[in-house]
Amino acid sequence: MTTLPGAAHTSRKLGLILALLVILPLVFYSAYEFASLSEGEELMREMYRRQLDAILFSLNMHAWDVCSHWATQLDLTLRDDAQGDRAVLEAFLNRTPTLETVILADTALKDIRIFRQEAATGQMLTAEEFLGLVRPAWSRLAALLRFQRVDYRKLEPFVIPDTVGGDGRILIVFARVMRNGSLSFAGLVFRERQFISRIIAPKLLDVSSGEFLLAAFRRGETTPISASGQVPQNADFQRRDLWLLPGHEVGIRLQGTTVDEVVRARFQRNLLLILLLDVILLAGALLIYRSVRAQTEFARAKSAFVSNVSHELRTPLALIRMFAETLEMGRLKDEGKRQEYYTTIVREADRLSHLVNTILNFSRMEAGRRPYHFHPMDLNDALRSVLETYRLHMEQHGITPVVGYFSAPVRISADEDAVTEAIINLLDNGIKYAGPSRYLAARTLIRDGYGVVEIEDHGIGIASEYQKKIFDVFFRVPTGMVHETKGSGLGLSLVDHIMTAHNGRVEVSSKPGAGSTFRLLFPLNYTGEAGTLRKEA
Ligand code: ADP
Repeated sequence: MTTLPGAAHTSRKLGLILALLVILPLVFYSAYEFASLSEGEELMREMYRRQLDAILFSLNMHAWDVCSHWATQLDLTLRDDAQGDRAVLEAFLNRTPTLETVILADTALKDIRIFRQEAATGQMLTAEEFLGLVRPAWSRLAALLRFQRVDYRKLEPFVIPDTVGGDGRILIVFARVMRNGSLSFAGLVFRERQFISRIIAPKLLDVSSGEFLLAAFRRGETTPISASGQVPQNADFQRRDLWLLPGHEVGIRLQGTTVDEVVRARFQRNLLLILLLDVILLAGALLIYRSVRAQTEFARAKSAFVSNVSHELRTPLALIRMFAETLEMGRLKDEGKRQEYYTTIVREADRLSHLVNTILNFSRMEAGRRPYHFHPMDLNDALRSVLETYRLHMEQHGITPVVGYFSAPVRISADEDAVTEAIINLLDNGIKYAGPSRYLAARTLIRDGYGVVEIEDHGIGIASEYQKKIFDVFFRVPTGMVHETKGSGLGLSLVDHIMTAHNGRVEVSSKPGAGSTFRLLFPLNYTGEAGTLRKEA
């Protein structure tokens, strides 16, 4: 198969079309995907942040609900008791151990009554302290009343300045409706530490569910007061204020990883997928390119073959006709000349029948219709007989072959005609491509369980990039003397076919300018049933 200049042009065009159809869209698509991947990364991060915020929000809601529940309970208790009886309130406090103190006050902040948990220790909140806390924040108290008038109970937290130190206390103030319908204030006091350990901590554990790490902090501190698990050093938490505990925060992070890590892993996975897709598409495009290129080259080679063959048919036919006509006219008096003409006619007729046989054999092989008849035979005999037949032909081409036979019969099971044809093809090429050296060697040998026929020339040789392709149908090496040498490009593909049918193979070692050695390798004792090799004892 000759690579014609037109084929290169078609290949380039095909490459360009594929580039336009596949590679350009691929580049754009990948660039677009890459860009949206970065956008997606930011979006993911934001989504995670919001999800974590929602969890923190639910924590705050929980704390709020607990306090609201206390307020409702207090309300119910006081409704049953018109005077705000000490015993009733103390019973309420005993039922709610987290609460230390209950304060009741009228809206004018004149009548302030304080009830304390029996078991409570430390200083008790006095009426003055209470006033000191709430009076300066009168606008917040006024808001409580406003909200309560529309039936919404708002809770307002105050930090009680600690005189004992360490364990801070919180006062939650809210407005309530009394039995007679008028409004008043109530306050609940509890210790931060107790609120966190009894109310917040169980919730942290509950919400974390192994996936998140949740913790409660004092604002600005990195060591948590309480956490749902082991907190790594310098762990980065997403934090939000605890509404009911001023100066406190709840924080959340993913267990064992960070949002950034999760997002980065996702980004890398997606990037890898895009790259994989690119590789698959490129491989597909390359495959299409190669297959179409092979098809176009094949089509071109086929038409080159037709023109080659027609030319090869025409030349011997013209010669035969010319010499036969001359002889027919009887004008040749010289006997020697006449003999020469006869020889030429026979030689050209031989060439013709060889060519026609090659084409016929080839088409039979292509259709898988060539029958092989396996018989035991000796490769030495086969080579000897071919060389005998070809001696004259070789002499005419100035070649006296160097011949060597294996010292014992090289027994194989083979189709004798096919073996002869394979050897002839190699010899023929050896003669055609022997170059000026006119050296040709033919020998048989045994190597690694194979009977081998070796044909060596010191001719033009074959460049390594073509050494596989020469066995392809129609392939002819495009450089060198191919245009001066006649050929169909079928010979070696026939040889390859024959060797495969014999469960053997054809090998070539060659160097441009130095020559080529072709080897036919037949398995010894092959019986002819495809793939079986009978070992002889
Ligand atoms: P052709 O009819 O062209 O000789 P073949 O199939 O026999 O076809 O060989 C294919 C091509 O391999 C040839 O065209 C030639 O280029 C190259 N070739 C085959 N044998 C030899 C050799 N002994 N030395 C150099 N080139 C060779």
